[in-house]
Amino acid sequence: MVFLSTAISDARITESASNGEFHPDTVNTTIYGTRWASEDIPRYDMPEDEMPATVAYRLIKDDLALDGNPALNLATFVTTYMEDEAEKLMAENLSKNFIDYEEYPQSAELCNRCVNMIARLFNAPMDNPCFESLGCSTVGSSEAIILATLAMKRKWQLSRKAKGLSTENPNIVMGANCQVAWHKAVRYLEIEGREVECTADLLYMDPQKAVDLVDENTIGVCAILGSTYTGHYEDVKAINTLLEEKCEENGWDVGIHVDAASGGFVAPFVVPELEWDFRLSRVVSINVSGHKYGLTYAGVGWAIWRSPEYLPKDLIFNINYLGSDQASFTVNFSKGAAHVIAQYYVLIRLGRRGFQKIMSNLTDTADHLAERLKATGHFEILSEGGGRGLPLVAFRLSTPHHYDEFDIARRLRQRGWIVPAYTMAHELEHMKLLRVVVREDFSRSRCELLARDVVSVLKTLDLLDEKSIEAHRSAANEVHQSAVHQRHSSIYLPPNPDSDDADEVNPSFGIC
Ligand SMILES: *Cc1c(COP(=O)(O)O)cnc(C)c1O
Repeated sequence: MVFLSTAISDARITESASNGEFHPDTVNTTIYGTRWASEDIPRYDMPEDEMPATVAYRLIKDDLALDGNPALNLATFVTTYMEDEAEKLMAENLSKNFIDYEEYPQSAELCNRCVNMIARLFNAPMDNPCFESLGCSTVGSSEAIILATLAMKRKWQLSRKAKGLSTENPNIVMGANCQVAWHKAVRYLEIEGREVECTADLLYMDPQKAVDLVDENTIGVCAILGSTYTGHYEDVKAINTLLEEKCEENGWDVGIHVDAASGGFVAPFVVPELEWDFRLSRVVSINVSGHKYGLTYAGVGWAIWRSPEYLPKDLIFNINYLGSDQASFTVNFSKGAAHVIAQYYVLIRLGRRGFQKIMSNLTDTADHLAERLKATGHFEILSEGGGRGLPLVAFRLSTPHHYDEFDIARRLRQRGWIVPAYTMAHELEHMKLLRVVVREDFSRSRCELLARDVVSVLKTLDLLDEKSIEAHRSAANEVHQSAVHQRHSSIYLPPNPDSDDADEVNPSFGIC
């Protein structure tokens, strides 16, 4: 026991330090005491020297803190919640390249199983071994849409060539409400996109108008199961019937591609009787985003073809340089295997019943939110309830106010909610709307919080006069401009002579 302590002299401390007893320099400060915290993070040039992993980690983490909170991002369909076990599987498989089938045959096998399950979910014909359905994983629906459009175009070209007919002017018919992936597909693949305009009475594709646009140069008709703008399911069955008649009359063979990016994992569980898939004779291919209601994190989609005759062989590459023969139909080559593995996890973890429970909860929540919004007396609901469309609520102000949908979105953003305001396609560009996508992690209690916040935003806006609202707009615009400036500092944006300034005045949060 020591009851008396000595105050050690500086001389003795210096001596012990030189003997190596104290190493004051080897104790680290926190990263905020290092020089990196007092310098700007490298932006344009790769730094000359290394930095410690802990510092790099912290700097980036802090930078990302300004991102929105994914759970409050009601703009997106894309999954923001997965179970710990799924995340663990993904982390354990992050180092696997999906394309290395030979080295990772089990990962490839899980992909095969997913294709099987999804093809059956979409009622692909299963009775003829010579015409088995086939499919592949993709990075998302956009890649799947490019591949499917390419397949339709090639099939059309081959059949036209065989008849000695021109292959100069292929076209595809789609609604003006289609997702941007379709605009990309037609531009990249040099196809004329024939768009059916939406009207105030019908915010999605009219089957008759669509089929009226079909001619001998039509490679296919795209129907959307879950319109991006309002969640409506397009009437694939009506399109199918009309197209059957038209093809019969003219001796054509025009197929339907269903863009089920969002609805592919919803409709089969909520409205199983709805015929939109391979049960319909002219549906030749379907895409679905695994990372939307397939409940997997961003990075996986699926393309499924009814049978090999819809996927011309010359589009499929057989390669052997990874150790075995393998067929490949993808735009990219390497990609992570973790997302495919995670998709398989979700499919077997939930099973049909699990999906059904989740999707019907989401449908109920969307209906509840629609009721709450209607009850404010301010809104008109534009989306379908009761599971007849995607679990989302698209709505707009029912009468003109001195504020608009964008003002509401901005106010909600201040609370943390990301609710996009946007305008309808083409002819209906004057029509502004708001959209809340109900995703797996948007529980009833979160829905209540949102509904209450919408009410309080309306109260505030009702109290403000036009001038103060205008002032808020320009203030918000400045913040937006500063964020955009930073974001765009290293993105080349070519000047667009056609652009008006609508976007600058009304900074909307992108919908996807
Ligand atoms: C999201 C979406 C797409 C694009 O899908 P990604 O998986 O994001 O590439 C295409 N079409 C529709 C209808 C969508 O909702």
